[in-house]
Amino acid sequence: MEKDEVKYTRQREEMVRRQIEARGITDPKVLAAVRKVPRHLFVSEALTDQAYGDFPLPIGEQQTISQPYIVAEMTQALQVDEDDRVLEIGTGSGYQAAILAEIVFRVYTVERINSLFIKTRKLFDRLRYHNIVTKYSDGTCGWKDESPFDAIIVTAGAPEIPIPLVAQLAVGGRMVIPVGNQYTQDLIKLYKDEDGIHTTSLGGCRFVKLVGEHGWK
Ligand code: SAH
Repeated sequence: MEKDEVKYTRQREEMVRRQIEARGITDPKVLAAVRKVPRHLFVSEALTDQAYGDFPLPIGEQQTISQPYIVAEMTQALQVDEDDRVLEIGTGSGYQAAILAEIVFRVYTVERINSLFIKTRKLFDRLRYHNIVTKYSDGTCGWKDESPFDAIIVTAGAPEIPIPLVAQLAVGGRMVIPVGNQYTQDLIKLYKDEDGIHTTSLGGCRFVKLVGEHGWK
């Protein structure tokens, strides 16, 4: 067991250097978080030895944990800091939520597949992520009771930006969301200020589908 921890710590360090720093991620808070979170505990036992590889992995229910670099890139783009309240749509394995929970005050995360919701809730408890609040529901409607959010991250591909999420973003807030068809999407960063919303593209990506009332039917 201890031997494994040493091995995984070494693999994680290599992941950060070769995949994340080498591709230009510089935010110290993001780098500290990816150095700390034990990604191998967020995948099934059969896949732990691949957990630090430069690719997404299956997590059951035809869903995936994103490639490490994508998680770092999206987190950096959110420009979060320690006072922020962040909404994540698509809990999945819980890895992205854990990365955010290392940085911000509180993470609210929504998952629409019950088995993933239950499994990941237990993992958060086991790893003592007490600042992650979970909900089983359709995240395309957001989480109105807890809004507004300083940042919103959507980790599934949307046909368009769900209107309720824009409404639940604070003025000065940031959103990162993949938007496109079911095969390829553009990673969109949205910024909301007094004048309205401003969007920029961070480049191409590929995510599983965001399924729900304001997503794919
Ligand atoms: N952030 C996750 C990525 C998981 S893949 C991680 O770090 O592992 C995307 C997840 O989004 C899947 O678990 C899928 O079930 C979920 N999802 C898709 N549509 C959703 C919706 N409308 N509301 C909430 N979750 C959704």
